[in-house]
Amino acid sequence: MCDLSFSTAEGPLASAGNTPLIEVTIVNYSTILVFAAHPDDEIQMAGTIAKLSAAGVRVVVCQFTDGCEGYPTPDLRDTIVELRKQEADACDRVLGIARRYHLDRPDMALVNDKETLLEVLRIVREVRPDAVFTHGPDDFHRDHRTTCDLSLEATWQAGQPVSSQRGEPWKTPHVFYYKGVQGRPADINYDVSEYYPKRVEALAEQISQHVLFNSTRDTMLAEAEMVKQAVAQGQKYYEQFWFTDRCHFTDFPPVTR
Ligand SMILES: [Zn+2]
Repeated sequence: MCDLSFSTAEGPLASAGNTPLIEVTIVNYSTILVFAAHPDDEIQMAGTIAKLSAAGVRVVVCQFTDGCEGYPTPDLRDTIVELRKQEADACDRVLGIARRYHLDRPDMALVNDKETLLEVLRIVREVRPDAVFTHGPDDFHRDHRTTCDLSLEATWQAGQPVSSQRGEPWKTPHVFYYKGVQGRPADINYDVSEYYPKRVEALAEQISQHVLFNSTRDTMLAEAEMVKQAVAQGQKYYEQFWFTDRCHFTDFPPVTR
């Protein structure tokens, strides 16, 4: 279910022929950078992360906040940050995330300030991603909206001849939203069926959050097995992405694999 109606592609994509356009696009990235407001936000695109990682793509996550408000019961208040760090580490192992930056801003208090903008600018220049995936603008959570603003501007500023002590400028060719978009259909429906069980396994590791979903690690791992069986029987699972106005397909990076 790729968006074959997207018709402005030129250059390498124009030769994609009958191959689903978006499948070709995403698989040829070498490095992607995923922005997450909190530990576990990136799991919204976990199947994609696992699929790309398995194909040799270097997947880097930049997590803005420490998740300190994500304690569902008072007894977890003093240990929640450390717990969620461990859960994020487990998520990285399950999905094949190569590196996770922790900016450790306080949960529910992420601020779009100069210090954070420049820190993210430096990370973009260090990672040199072919594509950035981030939160969209339509969201109730203030940290999600601020992550959208900070990551979009930092990705753009990183390509400008500014703040030169923070690395060589890097222009990221493609920027996508993976959540937080309302009122328009997704531009990409990416088939992640084979890797969808990894998404459930990654959620299974977010033990501190299970009470929100009325689940346990065991019930989620059992669900992952059920998903595997469903996929074996032909069930399809997709993850959705939206173009931002920085998706210029004419400057798609050269195909290397
Ligand atoms: Zn979040």
